[in-house]
Amino acid sequence: MKVLVLNCGSSSLKYQLIDMENESVLAKGICEKIGMDGSMISHTPTGKEGFKERKEPMPDHKAAVKLVIDALLDKNWGVISDMKEIDAVGHRVLHGGKYYSESIVVNPDVKRVIRECFDLGPLHNPANLIGIEACEALMPNTPQVAVFDTAFHQTMPKKAYTYAIPYEYYDKYAIRKYGFHGTSHSFVSKRAIEFGGLDPKNSKVIVCHLGNGASLSAVVNGKCVDTSMGLTPLEGLIMGTRSGDVDPAVVQYIANKENKTVDEVLNILNKKSGVFGLSGVSSDFRDLEAAANSGNERAKDAVEAFVYRVAKYIGSYVAAMNGVDAIVFTAGLGENDGKTRSRICAYLGYLGVKLDDEMNKLRGKEMVISTPDSKVKVLVIPTNEELAIARETIALI
Ligand code: AMP
Repeated sequence: MKVLVLNCGSSSLKYQLIDMENESVLAKGICEKIGMDGSMISHTPTGKEGFKERKEPMPDHKAAVKLVIDALLDKNWGVISDMKEIDAVGHRVLHGGKYYSESIVVNPDVKRVIRECFDLGPLHNPANLIGIEACEALMPNTPQVAVFDTAFHQTMPKKAYTYAIPYEYYDKYAIRKYGFHGTSHSFVSKRAIEFGGLDPKNSKVIVCHLGNGASLSAVVNGKCVDTSMGLTPLEGLIMGTRSGDVDPAVVQYIANKENKTVDEVLNILNKKSGVFGLSGVSSDFRDLEAAANSGNERAKDAVEAFVYRVAKYIGSYVAAMNGVDAIVFTAGLGENDGKTRSRICAYLGYLGVKLDDEMNKLRGKEMVISTPDSKVKVLVIPTNEELAIARETIALI
């Protein structure tokens, strides 16, 4: 069985074709600058030559999906000889609102809900729906599955997901915390229970998904009970370019002082803030580390603020769960940056967390990085959102 996984962003489309017999990637790639001048596709088939940043006109996501299929079928760099070899398509969909707590085979109702959630995910949901409809047009007999970024967090209790604003706004507009990175939190928390030898029916896990976007989740017996992102991915941790939690009055203050609209200020909080905004250097921790090492105080402060926020959230989730068995690091920074992991864990001595400094120097693989006598296991579990989407897809067809 072969599953095509599609992840449509506002102007990009990432894809992987996965052979589910052995869960191996047959080909992967990305279409960028969709709907803009200079759109291009990069395609990497496993074990043979592909191409990088080839300029192709892509007025919309439908044109991009067509190019992906062409690349997969091409006699030089293709990996399949007939479109029928694709047994199903798994789509990453940003927002399923309160409607979906699990992945689902696409039908007209699913598309209606994705459309209803356009307001909640204005950049992604429209692109996700176009991706689905493009696949329906190009391969009408192939099942499509929607895998929602919000689904895993739907088990949160009301006390965790409600905002203390007038209740009518929840009733009228479904304003509440939803949480994101759900596929990653689900995949990593399940794997942590297996790899860490925890009891699936009696386990408390905190997953730290630390990448350019960053979020934490608290997971009791495999079910999410709290997460740091909110109505949108802006809430919570300090991220690459997102501010995370700020007093909402900051929006009004900047708008008044700088003569900007609310939309403009939110754009600043999403795209020009976080460690990038604090440091003025970069959103990438490798650049920040280099800058801090050469004496850049703002870069140093940005990293410290990031680490402090993660540690504070971990503390709050330990309180929410009345304990923790394992703390798990994942995503670009969580998997690769031992220094940041060590800085975060330095706040957790009160929990009896002890890191094995030698193990913590390693990167990018599943590992236990705490000492045998640490009261809480600390793990690194590389996330694999595409594989998680492909597994969910196969399970449903
Ligand atoms: P992601 O969004 O999961 O792809 O993560 C991207 C982020 O991971 C980058 O912005 C970097 O800050 C961080 N990252 C990736 N590799 C490393 C590394 N080797 N050392 C430090 N940070 C890294």
